[in-house]
Amino acid sequence: MAEAETIVAGGGPVGSALALALDRSGCKVTLLEARTGTDAADDARTLALSHGSCQILERLGVWPPGVAPVEILQINVSQRGGFGRVELTAAEAGVPALGYVVEYGALQRALTAALEHSGVRVESGAVALAVEGDSQRAGVSVEQAGVVGVAHAKLIAIADGGGRLELSQVREHDYGQSALVCDVASAQPHRNRAFERFTREGPLALLPNARGWALVWTVQSERAAALATLDEKKFCTQLQETFGYALGSFTLLGPRRIFPLRLKVAAQAVAPRCVLIGNAAQTLHPVAGQGFNLGLRDAFELARLIATRGAGDPGNPQLLNTFFTQRRFDRTATILFTDSLIRLFSKDIPLLSPLRGLGFAALSALPPVRKFVARRMIFGAHG
Ligand SMILES: Cc1cc2nc3c(=O)[nH]c(=O)nc-3n(C[C@H](O)[C@H](O)[C@H](O)COP(=O)(O)OP(=O)(O)OC[C@H]3O[C@@H](n4cnc5c(N)ncnc54)[C@H](O)[C@@H]3O)c2cc1C
Repeated sequence: MAEAETIVAGGGPVGSALALALDRSGCKVTLLEARTGTDAADDARTLALSHGSCQILERLGVWPPGVAPVEILQINVSQRGGFGRVELTAAEAGVPALGYVVEYGALQRALTAALEHSGVRVESGAVALAVEGDSQRAGVSVEQAGVVGVAHAKLIAIADGGGRLELSQVREHDYGQSALVCDVASAQPHRNRAFERFTREGPLALLPNARGWALVWTVQSERAAALATLDEKKFCTQLQETFGYALGSFTLLGPRRIFPLRLKVAAQAVAPRCVLIGNAAQTLHPVAGQGFNLGLRDAFELARLIATRGAGDPGNPQLLNTFFTQRRFDRTATILFTDSLIRLFSKDIPLLSPLRGLGFAALSALPPVRKFVARRMIFGAHG
C-alpha cells in the first residue's frame, strides 16, 4: 500500500466524512473499510441528524443524501407514568428544522458515491488489526484478502465504530438495554413531529420517515429479544401500551432489528500520530440521537485543524493535543447529557417521577431554557 499522509481506519459515516473533508483540503488519504460492497446499506439504523450536521454534510457535497430526508419541526418529550411534557419547535430555536431523519444506509451510499469521485484511495475488505505510532509516523497492520501487511502514514485516524482498535484505557458501562428498531405506521400522519417518551425501561423514540415512523424502542435486553419475536398484533399492542393512543393505532412495517447498548468512552482520544473519532472515541446511548452528530463534529473539527494548522504534517503532536483539548467540552457535555438522561429516567425511586414532572413543567414554562436545550441538541455544546 503506498504511503499516505493520513490513513482513516473505518469507513462508516464518520470515517468517510473525515476522509472527504481531508481530501477537500488537499491531504492524501487512504480509507480502510472492513465491509465490502453494499454491506453498509443493510444497516437498519435510522439517524436523526441535527441542523448543524446537515450544514457539515452540505459542505462535503453529500446533502441531501439521495432520498429526500424528512424534516423534524417539533419534538415532543414526555414520561410514561408521570405528568409533564415539553415541546421543542424549530421556530422557537430559530432554525428551519430541528433535525432531519435519514437512513444510515442512504447516508452511507451518498458518502461512498462522493468518495468515488474524490482523490481518496478506498480499500474495501481491509480490516485494521492494530495501530501504533511514534514521533515520526504511525503504522497499521491490515488484513485484506487473507494477506496481512503494514501501512504507514503521518496520521492514523481510527473511526472503527468502537471496534477492536484502542489507544488508551476505555471506560465501559453496559446499560443492560437494547434498542429495538423497525418502521411502524400510525393512524395519524407524522406532520413532521418526533416523539421521545421516557419509560422506566428506557426511552421510546418515534422519528418521522417516508413510510410513517422509525421506531427506536429501548428496553431491557431480554424484553427486546422477546418483543422481536412477538407476532405483529401482540407487538403493536405492547407498543400501544407503552406509547399510548396519541397517534391512533400502530401497524408494523418491515423487520425488527436489535442493537445492544453500552457506553464506551476512551480516556485518551489521542496518542502519538493517532487519533480516535466518532464511536471509536465515544459510543453513546442513542437517546436524543447524539452519537453520529457528535462524531461528525469530531471529523469536521479535525479536518479543519489539519487544513489550517497542519502545515503538511497532519499528525503533528501539537495539533493532535489542540484537537483533544478543543473537543473535550463538547464530548464530555454530550456524554454526560445522554448518560444522565438514561440514569435519571430509568430509576424507579419514589419522588423522582414528580420531580421529573416538575422539570418538564419548568422547561415548558421557560421559552429561553427550551431554546437553550434545543440549540445544544442542534449544534452541540458550543451551540
Ligand atoms: C439504534 C441506534 C440509533 C441511533 N440513532 C442515532 C441518531 O438518531 N442520531 C445520531 O446522531 N446517532 C445515532 N446513533 C449513533 C450512530 O449510529 C453512531 O454514532 C454512528 O453510526 C457512528 O459512526 P462511526 O462511523 O463512528 O461508526 P460506525 O457507524 O459503527 O462505522 C464504523 C465503520 O468502521 C468499519 N470497521 C470496523 N472495524 C474495522 C476495522 N478493524 N478495520 C476497518 N474498518 C472497520 C465498520 O465496518 C463500519 O463501516 C444511533 C445508534 C443506534 C445503535
